[in-house]
Amino acid sequence: MLNDSIQYHNGALFCDSVAVTEIIAQVGTPVYIYSLKRALHNLEQIRAAFHELNPHIHYSSKANSNLAILKSLIQSGAGIDAVSAGEIHRALLAGVSAENIVFAGVGKTPNEIAYALEQKVGWFNVENIAECQYINDAITAGKHAPAQIALRFNPEVTANTHPYISTGHGGAKFGLTAEAIRYLLAQQADYPNLKFTGIHLHIGSQLHDTDATRQAVQAALELIAPYPEIRTVNIGGGLPVAYKPDEQIPSFESFAETLTPLLKGYTVLLEPGRSIIADAGMLVGTVLYVKRQAGQIFYIADVSMAELIRTPLYNAHHEIVPVVLPESLPTIPQGEGNFLVNVVGPVCESSDVLGRSVPLPEMSPGAPLAILTAGAYGMVMASNYNQRPRPPEVVVSEDGQSWDIARRRETWDDMLSAENL
Ligand SMILES: *Cc1c(COP(=O)(O)O)cnc(C)c1O
Repeated sequence: MLNDSIQYHNGALFCDSVAVTEIIAQVGTPVYIYSLKRALHNLEQIRAAFHELNPHIHYSSKANSNLAILKSLIQSGAGIDAVSAGEIHRALLAGVSAENIVFAGVGKTPNEIAYALEQKVGWFNVENIAECQYINDAITAGKHAPAQIALRFNPEVTANTHPYISTGHGGAKFGLTAEAIRYLLAQQADYPNLKFTGIHLHIGSQLHDTDATRQAVQAALELIAPYPEIRTVNIGGGLPVAYKPDEQIPSFESFAETLTPLLKGYTVLLEPGRSIIADAGMLVGTVLYVKRQAGQIFYIADVSMAELIRTPLYNAHHEIVPVVLPESLPTIPQGEGNFLVNVVGPVCESSDVLGRSVPLPEMSPGAPLAILTAGAYGMVMASNYNQRPRPPEVVVSEDGQSWDIARRRETWDDMLSAENL
């Protein structure tokens, strides 16, 4: 969606002070474009909203792990929430100090646990009773220092979000029940290498309900009340992002106002991903063909579910807009003079639809279009399906004036590089 960084000027779409047409003239399409300014602004907004708690903000790097993005968030003081050893490796390369990494994940392998211990990550967010045994034994075997553990609590609260991105309900694979946590804490002596000093919760993404979050945090605090050594509460990520112009979502401030009174006196960690990077990014493609068939209009573009799978996977909505507005149409899509079209990709799947019934002006082959709010869970989920090289990622600098190819377009050779020829 449009915001202070993603805007039209004289009918042309810009990322801060850079015209999208300038980037695609040099780089081609499809291409991801990110506003560093917007990402850093979002980080600051979250920090400001929660300032009374002075939280440690651990950017959830699975949302977008481009090194340029990681480096600049880390330089602005963010820690990292990693969900695999690969993410830890990448975050360290981007310059985070290991103590500012939290390592989460429902299925950490023995190799990942050993690597995280060697690197001395700050926290393990634990989701299994057996995981405690593994970590404890790996510390003994590797003669590592004791590890800080935050037990991930499944509060059995239903976050009012898409079932695929809700994680805090009783039937989900995530977290530990209150009973399992009490059991573990009663058996702490069995794990002499573990310091049980934190509680963690992450009840889902795109949280639309501050009250469900309040209930979950309250339940976590009641659970840890008998254990005075647990003074760290990691409240996870999930802060919502608007994907549609008329979408009403609770603000960062409303989450902060709800949670601050509960959490005063604790060390608080946050793990935002989407809310930092989603609206800082767009995916730009080009219309290849216009097809009128079965009473519908299809814009067949050079961008597909291989580059952005959120719509087929979650039925997610992304605004799609022309990069250059036609002169006869000074307003964008919602206005008169637009057609309802289906924007589809070239991939051999019926689900390769980026937008259904999208209001767009008449566009000819060669016209570029932008899929907005695509900075989170976009490139990180891209694949080589149909042997499509993954797109480049362009980052517009913090001052908004210049841009750089942070990751080049993949080549056919890149796609073959791991195979025996
Ligand atoms: C995915 C995830 C996050 C980030 O979620 P967002 O909705 O992107 O903010 C944070 N913490 C954990 C444990 C996660 O799995």
